[in-house]
Amino acid sequence: MKITISDLVKTYPGQARRATDDVSLEVADGEFLVLVGPSGCGKTTLLRMVAGLETPDTGTIHIGDKDVTGLAARHRGISMVFQSYAIFPHMKVRENIGFGLAMRKVDAAEIRRRVDQAAELLQLTEVLDRFPAQLSGGQRQRVAVARAVVVDSGVLLMDEPLSNLDALLRLQFRAELKKIVREIGTTTLYVTHDQAEAMSLGDRVAVMRDGRIAQLGPPLEVYDTPSDQFVGGFLGSPPMNFLPGSALVAVLGADSAPGLDNVLVGVRAEKVAVDAERTADAVPATVEVVEPTGASMLLTVLLDGHRLKVSTPPTFTAAPEQQIWLRFDPASLRFYDPETGLALL
Ligand code: ATP
Repeated sequence: MKITISDLVKTYPGQARRATDDVSLEVADGEFLVLVGPSGCGKTTLLRMVAGLETPDTGTIHIGDKDVTGLAARHRGISMVFQSYAIFPHMKVRENIGFGLAMRKVDAAEIRRRVDQAAELLQLTEVLDRFPAQLSGGQRQRVAVARAVVVDSGVLLMDEPLSNLDALLRLQFRAELKKIVREIGTTTLYVTHDQAEAMSLGDRVAVMRDGRIAQLGPPLEVYDTPSDQFVGGFLGSPPMNFLPGSALVAVLGADSAPGLDNVLVGVRAEKVAVDAERTADAVPATVEVVEPTGASMLLTVLLDGHRLKVSTPPTFTAAPEQQIWLRFDPASLRFYDPETGLALL
């Protein structure tokens, strides 16, 4: 089922700022769309309006072709998984997973069949007769997801469902979740503040800021061509580097120097080539910090007084204070207006 969000405005009582400021968005049938952004940007409010747990001031929400804006949550035909996943401690895993089906008066044999199927998908078959207290954190999280997917409602809403897991489990379950959601093919709207999670899961990601969508697109497109300085800084680890154009005269050519004073150049750490020896078209920089990540060597360097991060193969050796040489591929440079932070075409 597709979800169509049109011009949603929401202001909480007593708040001067709009929590969502005229947001429009379409989630295609079967798509996994991630809302991502810093704390307070309005992503949870947007999700809760789709769920029917908050009422918008103005704007409409359609699920499929049906206008659900005024409809109670339970009549919207959606499943939800929230951060504080409320699984019932007094019910066994089997009953927890089947809860939504029982509420919908599905008959017992069908409940059993669907619970078994969801349990298999989420590797919970072995623990169906346990109580939640007898499960690991990751298993409990899977029960919450199983309970949502078993209903097969066509729309799945998730708000930070992995946030209670430790870093390793979070990473494991992220991949599992991606696989499960692809298998069931449900239209999914997913909220996270974690940019890596957003990139990993989303068919598309919507980066939000101050109640608005700053950019919407496939993860790599948003990563490669951020529409503004905020998006480039938010997505990716390390964030995109931004340098005044004047620092890159040697790279971009003196002819364009007058224009360069008025642009901000964005470049990703891994797009800068690093050499220990001088090479043609290279500019000198000084190493400040060397951080081995295992997969790469992350360097903080000073170029013409400007600090940037560059990543090199893990075998690259460099020491603080050392001079190195940087090469920039003009095709990987992005240009921004220093006043507004917006991408220049
Ligand atoms: P987080 O990642 O911290 O959950 P978020 O991006 O999900 O943040 P929202 O929870 O949607 O953001 O909040 C958006 C704005 O609305 C914030 O300024 C927040 O303080 C405000 N807000 C959220 N819920 C309420 C509420 N019940 N009453 C008043 N203001 C609220």
